[in-house]
Parts: sequence; structure tokens; C-alpha cells
Amino acid sequence: MEGFIKFFGTGGARFVVSKQLRATGGLWFHYKDTNLYIDPGPGALVRINTSDEVFNPAHLDGIILTHKHVDHTNDVNVLIEAMTEGGFKKRGILFCPEDAIQEDPVVLKFARNYLDGIQFLKEKRYYILKDIPFTVPVRHIHPVETYGIIFDLNPRIGLLTDTRFFDTLPEHYRVDCLIVNVLRLKPVGQQYIIDHLSVQDFIEVVTEVKPEVAIMTHFGMNIIEEGPEMLAERLQKETGIRIIAAYDGMKWEF
Ligand SMILES: [Zn+2]
Repeated sequence: MEGFIKFFGTGGARFVVSKQLRATGGLWFHYKDTNLYIDPGPGALVRINTSDEVFNPAHLDGIILTHKHVDHTNDVNVLIEAMTEGGFKKRGILFCPEDAIQEDPVVLKFARNYLDGIQFLKEKRYYILKDIPFTVPVRHIHPVETYGIIFDLNPRIGLLTDTRFFDTLPEHYRVDCLIVNVLRLKPVGQQYIIDHLSVQDFIEVVTEVKPEVAIMTHFGMNIIEEGPEMLAERLQKETGIRIIAAYDGMKWEF
């Protein structure tokens, strides 16, 4: 095992965030000698520091923000401070959509100065952070500029972040392991929050992509009430694809 993903949060959307029904701290991605943090939502720094296993933000090499929504970015400034040891050690690359630091920025100017650099995520571009090469397949349909990520490793790992479903979405995420933000139980129109994937959309994606394993995360209220583990079990039977419901603190090794 050369890599792992640690789930410091598996909750998403405003009610789950407000009540912290699930943690919303995002993901720590480790591969070989590289540490990358993805979407540090509310509570990220607390979850990192209260984890049973020691995680040191000063060992991070970079941070990805898939988009600027608060459940994905709330702790980015404190995390940059922690990564750079209070700003005294310039370090790390921030990867984010341009609108995360342009209009109504979520990354404050003082924190930007602590970084080694900022790279904007753009459709079809290729990036490399030490041992971790990754690409951005397609711009998602979401109220702000939003991108999923494909980590070009062995196995290829896709992170399908917030989006409304669209027909060509599955073909952009042909990977071995697919992590999907599945926020809603029902399709658009039957629930309050739109521009997120429903369980039905998730089924459509995984049956087309056919990954070795699909991991569901970033759950909204209705999915949490339904029980993500039971749901994953049911969907696995239905699709014949291995499906895992992520839980807070889960460490998935690859
Ligand atoms: Zn969002």
C-alpha cells in the first residue's frame, strides 16, 4: 500500500454542516512522500488534530479546493497557516478554481502570501504535486466554478465532487476507483437542494463507469436518515459493483 485517503468528513450541505450530523472536514490524500488535502470544510483542522493517528498539517505539500462553497473551504485559511507553521515557513501549492480567489474570495490575501504558489484548476489540464499527478476532466454544473479530479496513479482514482448530473458526466470519470459526492436521496425537483447528485444519478454513473470500487461520501440529511451503509449494501446488490459508504475517520488504502 503506497497510498491512502483519510476521510475527515463525510457530510455535506447546509443542514448536515450546521448540526454536524457528520463531520465536514474533507480528505487527506497520501501517496508515497506526498500529502495533499482536499476540500477543508468546517472542522477540518479540529478533526486533523483530534484524530487517533497523528496527522501533521506541516507535512502537507498542497491543498485542492474543488469549489468555493463553505462546506468545502471553511478551514482553508487556518489550514494554510498550519501547513506553513504559522506563515513562517513558505510552503505548499493551492489548487483552486479562479473564482475562489477573485470575486468574494474564500482564501484571504495574508494566507495566499504563505504559499509557494497558486494554480488555477481548468478543464482538461494536467497538474503535478510531487508524487501525485492529476487531471481535471470537466467543469461541473454547480452554482460556482467547480471541478472534479482524476488522480493518475495505479489505481486511477476519481473524485467526483458536487455537480448536477449531465449526460457526458460518466465518460469523464473512467477510473478504477471512484469517490462520489452523493448528496440527495431523490432526483432534482423532489428535494430542496439542486445541482447535486442523487442516488439515482450515482447508479447511472457507476453502472456506466464500472469501477472496481465506488465510495459514496458527502451525504445530505436524507441519506444520513436512510442509513448510508444499508444504502450502499442495497446499491451493491442492484449494480453488481463494489460500493462503500464512507464514514467519518475512514482510512481507505490503495
Ligand atoms: Zn457545493
